[in-house]
Amino acid sequence: MPKPYHYLIVGSGLFGSVFAQQIHAAGKSCLVLEKRNHIGGNIYTENIADIQVHKYGAHIIHTNNEEIWNYVNSFVPFNRYTNSPLACYKGSFYNLPFNMNTFKQLWGITSPQEAKVKLEEQRGTYAHIEPRNLEEQALKLCGKDIYYSFIKGYTEKQWGREAVKLPAFIIKRIPFRFIYDNNYFNDQYQGIPIGGFTLLVERLLEGIEVKLNTDYLQDRNKWNKIADKIVFTGCIDHFFDFSLGRLEYRSLRFEHEQLKIDNYQGNAVINYTEREVSYTRIIEHKHFEFGEQPTTVITREYPVDYLPSNDPYYPVNDENNTKLLQQYQKLAAKQPNVLFGGRLAKYAYLDMDDTIEQALALARQELG
Ligand code: FAD
Ligand code: UDP
Repeated sequence: MPKPYHYLIVGSGLFGSVFAQQIHAAGKSCLVLEKRNHIGGNIYTENIADIQVHKYGAHIIHTNNEEIWNYVNSFVPFNRYTNSPLACYKGSFYNLPFNMNTFKQLWGITSPQEAKVKLEEQRGTYAHIEPRNLEEQALKLCGKDIYYSFIKGYTEKQWGREAVKLPAFIIKRIPFRFIYDNNYFNDQYQGIPIGGFTLLVERLLEGIEVKLNTDYLQDRNKWNKIADKIVFTGCIDHFFDFSLGRLEYRSLRFEHEQLKIDNYQGNAVINYTEREVSYTRIIEHKHFEFGEQPTTVITREYPVDYLPSNDPYYPVNDENNTKLLQQYQKLAAKQPNVLFGGRLAKYAYLDMDDTIEQALALARQELG
């Protein structure tokens, strides 16, 4: 008996939605299951007072990949938003990423030559070390003033552990420049879908059957019978009932607030870099879209421990978790009809462009 669907896609986040779009466009049948009460996974935006509120953390697409940029723009046009967060440290404001504006605000110097001399002095002996952890990497890259004002406090509250116990690669994502340029990303393309990320996902899933409020793992025997193949985008350890142990994550709590003023902070993203302020950043959503609504919605983002009752956000890619992941990957390789994809199944920090690229590649592989 042929099964009703070619593919059962578990999860309507970006990975599941892009994969579903490709499969559907190629004339194959698929069903998407989503355990939340809405589509979109973590890129979901909700319309509150005509403002697109990023409910699971602020999202900005940035990429150097022209194919991906054209792909997303073929579903919904993107605006010209450029991410330029500010850092607030002890009541003063500084530009991010670290660039000539930051150096001027911090040290009162205005030329790249002065900045280079200052940084050399700030780096001191760290300039010549091979960094073994995030603290050493940051001191080597930025020196002590920047590290102690903008990195140590933020990083330790974000990750819930000391910077000397974190891998160096986390900090390598932040650009560092000797020009006056507050663009947080180096990529050629960036922006926000006009109308919100949920609209992008709605368009990806157009004409595709989606069942919300449905957790695949609660009745997997039933669901396995209805499709030739399963695409699983949930947590890989959960798929195997945590049989080898739990992969660790850092979680987040979002506190959303609607205010009866039109402009709260004048910028979409402000990072609070001191350890003593318990949130890491405040997002003012309307500024992602140059909104002129009479009210505003802000979100304070608090890092919290990952408990079974919280959502998993940032994978903790240390040695122990990497070893555990490899063991789960061995089990996954023995599941011929299950394809694992997306940030939770791969246990990786994937930017949206990486997620889309991987979903397109998997679809290509499947469609031959
Ligand atoms: P998800 O969005 O997590 O989707 C997985 C879906 O599967 C969820 O909807 C979940 O409910 C569902 N699911 C899981 N298990 C089951 C089950 N058993 N049954 C049914 N459904 C299930 N990237 C950028 O490029 N730019 C940014 O600015 C950016 N900001 C970020 C900010 C934060 C705070 C975080 C954590 C990430 C950010 N990212 C950003 C990364 C981006 O969120 C990911 O690339 C993308 O959301 C991954 O999509 P996904 O489909 O793999 O995962
Ligand atoms: N970071 C920091 N201070 C900041 C912003 C970032 O120390 O003001 C560090 C922190 O360790 C964080 C990492 O840089 O985890 C990556 O930051 P990014 O903004 O790229 O990550 P996001 O949390 O938005 O994914």
